Amino acid sequence: MELLLGVFFFILGAIVGSFLNVVILRYHTGKTLLGRSHCSSCGRVIAWHDLIPILSFFLLRGRCRFCKSKLSVQYPLVEMATALLFLGVFLRYSALFSSPYPLPAAYYLIFLIDLLSFCLLVVITAYDLKHKIIPNLIVYLFVSISFIRTIMLTPTANLIHFSGLVHLLDGPLVALPLFLLWLFSRGRWIGLGDAKLSLGIGWFLTLLPAVSAEVIGFWIGAIVGLLLIAVSKLEHTPLARRLFSRWRLSPVTLKSEMPLAPFLIIGLALVYFLGFDVTGFAVMFTT
Ligand SMILES: [Zn+2]
Repeated sequence: MELLLGVFFFILGAIVGSFLNVVILRYHTGKTLLGRSHCSSCGRVIAWHDLIPILSFFLLRGRCRFCKSKLSVQYPLVEMATALLFLGVFLRYSALFSSPYPLPAAYYLIFLIDLLSFCLLVVITAYDLKHKIIPNLIVYLFVSISFIRTIMLTPTANLIHFSGLVHLLDGPLVALPLFLLWLFSRGRWIGLGDAKLSLGIGWFLTLLPAVSAEVIGFWIGAIVGLLLIAVSKLEHTPLARRLFSRWRLSPVTLKSEMPLAPFLIIGLALVYFLGFDVTGFAVMFTT
């Protein structure tokens, strides 16, 4: 049963992922989310059998059926990522589905909140990689549902006491350092969007796990940044030019703008799914 449900959530994730691709593509373009998908090169309507999540991209060898122009790898990557995230969230909450007695409805609601949160985070990641900006509407949605999540996970009795209310500070506390970095660098080091995202991460994970997520995110971001600089330097050597002639990277230097949000979100996922903890305190989840 658990295996069947796991397969179900994986496929559901892949389907939701292909919808997220449409959101990423059409956000801020004035186009609605309805309407058939067209090839961005030749404009032909794409048939339903060429829109099967993950599979179609490989069956078509990454090219449009009609004009043979290359399809963006964004499509299968977003679908695969969403499928794996849905499977992961399901595995974290699988007790909800195998429990012999009914559990409070709030648990199921939090399960849905987590699925929705990861959808929003996938959109933020892909959009930030593509456009180097975090869509406001999406990040505000994530912040709002993270706030609702933290309130739902705080026992009602604690909410009227200081011990519960103090959790409402988790978001602002995690966002504050990033907000200050943004303020003092006048937006040159990080964007305001990264601070908004961190507000949501703080409420989504609670304080200490969120600090872990941010630290891990900064580390991975720094490592990837340095690797990109190294590759970009090597790219101009004759050997590399022969090896890498297929991918022309734009030169990366210390001054290059690098999106931070995708790394913060990878940090969030590592803490959420694997319980990574860099603060030295055991990560304790209330669920
Ligand atoms: Zn085409």
